[in-house]
Amino acid sequence: MTVEETAARGGIRRERRWLLGWAITLGPALWVAARAANREIALAGVTLVWTIGIALAIARLMFARCPRCGRLFHSANGAPSVAKIFAPRCGQCGMRLKPERIIYPSLE
Ligand SMILES: [Zn+2]
Repeated sequence: MTVEETAARGGIRRERRWLLGWAITLGPALWVAARAANREIALAGVTLVWTIGIALAIARLMFARCPRCGRLFHSANGAPSVAKIFAPRCGQCGMRLKPERIIYPSLE
């Protein structure tokens, strides 16, 4: 495992956290916007901003490259896919996103 692979895996995990963050904060943002003075405008603004944020986060994950094989991380056939966006392994080479625990390095 090289330093570049570790950094790239951290980047993919960070992108996943961004997507989950957008999804989790959508409800509270809509709740706050529903209580604003100009309700319709606030709801439209929140919907627009969160839709763009979620779409960008999904797109960044769809086109994330595997640090080991260089192909799309979340794709099994080489085409960008949303279906495996939370897959724990690279769809091409099988590299795990989380580091593997090595208790006894001498047994590798
Ligand atoms: Zn790979």
